[in-house]
Amino acid sequence: MKGKSAVVIGSGIAGLAASIRLAVKGFNVTVFEAGSEPGGKMGEKSILGYRFDTGPSVFTMPHLIDELFELCGKNPRDYFNYSKLDPVFNYFYEDGTVINAAHGAEKFAEEIALKTSEKKETVLDYLAACETKYKLTHKVFLERSLHKPGNYLNYETLNGIVNFRKIQAFKTMNDANHKQLKDPRVVQLFNRYASYNGSNPFHAPATLNVIPFIEIGMGAYFPEGGMYAVISSLFKLAQEQGVEFKFNTMVTGIITANGKATGVRTSETAYSFDVVVSNMDVFNTYQDLIPDAPKPKLTLRQPKSSSVIVFYWGMMKTFPQLGLHNIFFSRSDKEEFNYVFEKNRIFADPTVYLNISSKANAADAPEGCENWFVMVTVPNNSGQDWDRFVRQTKKNVLTKLETFLNTDLKSLIGCEAILDPRRIETETSSAFGAVFGNASNSPYSAFLRHPNFSSKIKNLYFCGGSVHPGPGIPLCLLSAKIATDLVK
Ligand SMILES: Cc1cc2nc3c(=O)[nH]c(=O)nc-3n(C[C@H](O)[C@H](O)[C@H](O)COP(=O)(O)OP(=O)(O)OC[C@H]3O[C@@H](n4cnc5c(N)ncnc54)[C@H](O)[C@@H]3O)c2cc1C
Repeated sequence: MKGKSAVVIGSGIAGLAASIRLAVKGFNVTVFEAGSEPGGKMGEKSILGYRFDTGPSVFTMPHLIDELFELCGKNPRDYFNYSKLDPVFNYFYEDGTVINAAHGAEKFAEEIALKTSEKKETVLDYLAACETKYKLTHKVFLERSLHKPGNYLNYETLNGIVNFRKIQAFKTMNDANHKQLKDPRVVQLFNRYASYNGSNPFHAPATLNVIPFIEIGMGAYFPEGGMYAVISSLFKLAQEQGVEFKFNTMVTGIITANGKATGVRTSETAYSFDVVVSNMDVFNTYQDLIPDAPKPKLTLRQPKSSSVIVFYWGMMKTFPQLGLHNIFFSRSDKEEFNYVFEKNRIFADPTVYLNISSKANAADAPEGCENWFVMVTVPNNSGQDWDRFVRQTKKNVLTKLETFLNTDLKSLIGCEAILDPRRIETETSSAFGAVFGNASNSPYSAFLRHPNFSSKIKNLYFCGGSVHPGPGIPLCLLSAKIATDLVK
């Protein structure tokens, strides 16, 4: 094989994106994946005629996927399509309030003003502040390495510093939301966005209020065929760029010599590469693949994000009152987050997220049926009795949804699969089964995520949700861009 070679450890969305970008740079790229399919947390499964996306369901910033096709000189529309959602979310409260959150600040604010005591202007001002935060931070915090001093010498950083007060890094999300909004239902709606990166709104900096702007202002989308279509199309693109995939192949070590990464090891053999990119959780990369390397202790010691329990239920009935994305709120988000982050347990009345992709893609469930993805936020795995937690949570979730929907749901579940932190840990090698790497519960969290490169081992790079700029599809894609842009 001629030319330089690169290996990517893991085919999560960031690993796929990194492999494509390296191939475009002219590397001969090989991806080693422990599992049997690409996608990692972004997988899919089919049971008895129901198809489920196993992980992400909220799809934002699709232009970051398009960018990969364009980079390869392809028309993204020849590979995958998506449509904008409107309404985006249906929110259900115990007092009977139902908010059908529309796309775009104007319509969203109108709906909130109609259903709650919040004024339309207040919501518009709030969303404008979220947009300002996004504009002030995205170039500095999301699109570049925070760990290269040269990246601080530019207009965007200077502008961020001048307007630092508006970023609200030293205020919590909950405090900022309470200050700007009066109706507790609306505060709870916006606090929930902390769970998008596994954080606690009672500790996480209000800078994270960029998330509602991304979803409401920039838009949420549905990929034709479901979320896994994103992975299938990127996998196809990577193969067309000549990327070689080795599935069912766990990397057991990164080989180093003279302070440089020179290849990887599997249980069978050793392979030489010029560049190594790890899409494996960075905590486990240090622990399992380079145990003798000096560790960035402060970074690895940071508290981990929350995790999730997901019930995948094939429901033998349709529910016209539900949409694609539905939230059934807890009576107290303060107690709920306190249980998850302080008590390491699950609140008996959790906020329940119910995604039904068959609402947008009828083929995902048999006629007259729906595929329910029912998710609650839970602590990461510190050895709790998960069998008991899963049993209790299922009971609590069913009771809650049965009350809201006034239907006996148990008898309608035609098939079931369950995801819990133990499986997330073993199946995707995510430290402590945390879904989102480190939690963002302090103003310094962004700076304490691991960089996209190793400062101790040359030619070793990192991408994925556990490193800068963070978790979720858009940030994982940006991590791949930042990491591979650093590869010379
Ligand atoms: C239930 C759930 C819901 C979510 N909802 C959303 C959402 O709505 N929107 C959103 O944007 N994000 C969501 N996320 C988060 C999002 O899925 C992740 O941030 C993202 O998919 C992580 O991608 P990644 O590139 O870090 O790799 P991962 O998906 O973590 O994959 C890593 C891959 O590396 C492989 N691997 C690890 N170690 C090795 C090794 N030693 N050798 C070989 N292979 C290895 C693993 O098998 C795995 O395939 C959700 C996640 C979950 C679990």
